[in-house]
Amino acid sequence: MIPMLDLRLQHKTLEGEIWGQIREVFATGHFILGPQVAAFEQEAAAYHGRPFAVGVASGTDALHLALRASGMGPGDEVITTPFTFIASAEAISYTGARPVFVDIDPETYAIDPGQIEARITPRTKALLPVHLFGCPADLDRLSEIARRHRFRLIEDCAQAFGAIWKGRRVGSIGDAACFSFYPSKNLGGCGDGGMVVTADPDLYQALLRLRNHGSRRGYLHAEVGFNSRLDEIQAAILRVKLPRVDTWNRLRREKAAHYLKGLQGLGLGLPEAREGHVFHQFTIRTSRRERIRAALEAAGVSSIVYYPVPLHLQEAYRHLGYRRGDFPASERAASEVLSLQIYPDLEEAVIDRICLVIREALGV
Ligand SMILES: *Cc1c(COP(=O)(O)O)cnc(C)c1O
Repeated sequence: MIPMLDLRLQHKTLEGEIWGQIREVFATGHFILGPQVAAFEQEAAAYHGRPFAVGVASGTDALHLALRASGMGPGDEVITTPFTFIASAEAISYTGARPVFVDIDPETYAIDPGQIEARITPRTKALLPVHLFGCPADLDRLSEIARRHRFRLIEDCAQAFGAIWKGRRVGSIGDAACFSFYPSKNLGGCGDGGMVVTADPDLYQALLRLRNHGSRRGYLHAEVGFNSRLDEIQAAILRVKLPRVDTWNRLRREKAAHYLKGLQGLGLGLPEAREGHVFHQFTIRTSRRERIRAALEAAGVSSIVYYPVPLHLQEAYRHLGYRRGDFPASERAASEVLSLQIYPDLEEAVIDRICLVIREALGV
């Protein structure tokens, strides 16, 4: 089978530099909150044109700690979409707040700003948009709603490192932006890792405490915190990759353009290559998904459904009391989407083959 993602070529190219960096970590003997994390935080903050970045243990923790540092807790409501990876909602649940879902815009898969007002209650405290598949959510309208209601705007940028909204980097607009360095993400480490980027000094100080047992100094604990730190080896590896992420994102856009040419005229729903989209996934829509999946599998090509069941219909969120039919665009997306492989080193010949298999499966 041709896998969804093959990072071996990328790592082969960077092997010398990565081992050099890891050797450096061993030479200093500093493995937790040392010079590599500090340097990576500075570099990632500068990349986003923001003063602060805090490395944490995962993207899920980045969301959780950003919500907590923003004061979310029991009795509060945070608005997000049901068509996302479950971590977006789990992070809200961890704080004791309640995830409140708003349906997606079927073109971008991001939250539909026009449907937010109807779900606002006196308990609403924050908006948590997800830049799903690398496509920026409408940050103009989201910022406007957040400003008008004094909500916190916390961006889930886990799938969108380097994406751009109208000339500004996704993650440089909300009160806090949360990133994941899970290996398959656009900027991926060689293990788990995450980061919060912010311009708010109070949020920054709170995050520094929360990730390290509520402590800034010696064994003095201002609050009950967590153990959620990005480690030195991951930071060292990510520092090798950060200067390349824009090139990799450009290559992803080129692969997407190649797919778009090859899949034209087949009656498929195709993603729009809008400005700033970094194609974490290349996701098509079709009512004949099973037929296409079967043909791809028979041809030895992997494909994945992100995501087959929207969060409001997941067993884990049954207690929220939503029902089938509550979020039609999300439900329809869940039944029609299919993500095809896309990554910077993917060969165009493989894309051609995938397009051919799909064309044949549809009999056109
Ligand atoms: C990957 C992902 C996360 C969680 O990141 P982890 O590093 O795996 O914890 C959160 N939200 C979205 C949309 C993601 O894709």
